[in-house]
Amino acid sequence: MTEFSELIINGIKITPGTFASVMLPMPKLYDSTPISMPVHIIRGKTPGPTLCVTGAIHGDEVNGTEIVRRLLRKPALKKISGTLIAIPIVNVYGFLLQSRYLMDRRDLNRSFPGSEQGSLAARLAHVITTEILSQSTHFIDLHTGTLHRENLPQVRTDLSMPGIAGLAESFNVPVILNAPLRSGSLRQYAHEKSLPCLLYEAGESLRFNETAIDMGVNGILGVMQKLEMISIKEPAHKKFTPAFSYASYWIRAPHSGILRPLKSLGKKVSKGEVLAKIGNPINIEDYPLISPISGIIVGKSNLPLVHEGAALFHIASFEETTIITEELEYLQEAFIDTSENFEGI
Ligand SMILES: [Zn+2]
Repeated sequence: MTEFSELIINGIKITPGTFASVMLPMPKLYDSTPISMPVHIIRGKTPGPTLCVTGAIHGDEVNGTEIVRRLLRKPALKKISGTLIAIPIVNVYGFLLQSRYLMDRRDLNRSFPGSEQGSLAARLAHVITTEILSQSTHFIDLHTGTLHRENLPQVRTDLSMPGIAGLAESFNVPVILNAPLRSGSLRQYAHEKSLPCLLYEAGESLRFNETAIDMGVNGILGVMQKLEMISIKEPAHKKFTPAFSYASYWIRAPHSGILRPLKSLGKKVSKGEVLAKIGNPINIEDYPLISPISGIIVGKSNLPLVHEGAALFHIASFEETTIITEELEYLQEAFIDTSENFEGI
């Protein structure tokens, strides 16, 4: 059994069998307003993994913040083995600005492990790395699509890591993507330390999506169950048989214009199928957006105004797409939009 290791955050020793909230100091705003990052810690009385769950590392990805808030209310957390470190808002500055980025327009999730003397982003990353990440054994990083882009609930991870596929499955989402590492990301930090990390992507920035939030909360509980940190009888939801994808592609706009999607998130598409029409706003011309591959739509743009080259549909390819079609019907009901009604117009 894992031995209890000492846990000290911001100089505060968190002892086994306690719940603590630590406000980790960050650089002040230039008007002297103090800034701190909220860190909630639940330490069980019995040893186990130290799972770190991070929300809003991109400040406008607010679903993650709500997932952490709702997670902390779950009765299952009253008795845990090991330690849960839950951070609802990692990028406090971006959260205030309703922005993905920091004040200096740097991306915090491209700045790990950071440095003490570097940019604001590097300094923040350094504090988070030394105070939190270095004391964790497992990571779940919560994200959404970027501005005006919505993602089907999915887990992204490096499937070459031994044992990670089983951990990803325990999150209970229909799609698991083998995703390349982004330089400077929290996930890359975890990878370099050979520590398991799952990235949960669902919904859209600056929007709450109840399905995405609900699946996120239950996904974390599922992972904690798999890690034997908690004990829950039955999953609260339909159990998915996830499909693993080792390749995904963004389909970009061949023309500028007005986008009218014909396919919704979670839809299975075939190579050559029309995904959307791109219209000219000053006449009645319409250009079809053709899918160059077969797969499942796991992300899409919700903004009808597009410039040539804009990323519009994210399609994941699978060995066998029929397997997950049924699984995705459940999600399509929750994520449904009216785009199908435009078909043929
Ligand atoms: Zn993100």
